Amino acid sequence: MTIVVTDNCRLCRFTECVTVCPVACFHADDDMVYIDNNVCIDCRACIPVCPVKAILSEDDLADDQKHWIEVNAERSSALPVLEDKQPPLPTAESRRAELGY
Ligand code: SF4
Repeated sequence: MTIVVTDNCRLCRFTECVTVCPVACFHADDDMVYIDNNVCIDCRACIPVCPVKAILSEDDLADDQKHWIEVNAERSSALPVLEDKQPPLPTAESRRAELGY
């Protein structure tokens, strides 16, 4: 099953997911992280630790979120692996409040 990071990560990038992932499949740009599903082993450890519920299995994607499968594939292949937790973005707490978490 494909596991993807969705829009809620954007402007947050808390990166708790990176600390629990047993394989190095997270990649990051300045806004958010993305999962390389060629590496992901579908353990789902990252899903409950995200403070803003940004990570979803493809089964749980709404129709207007399905494009994130392709976005994760494209962006993860173009960006470096993120192996360590990073400080959240300066916009993270306001974005989390805006999302209601
Ligand atoms: Fe990593 Fe498991 Fe999440 Fe895949 S499902 S990104 S292997 S923590």
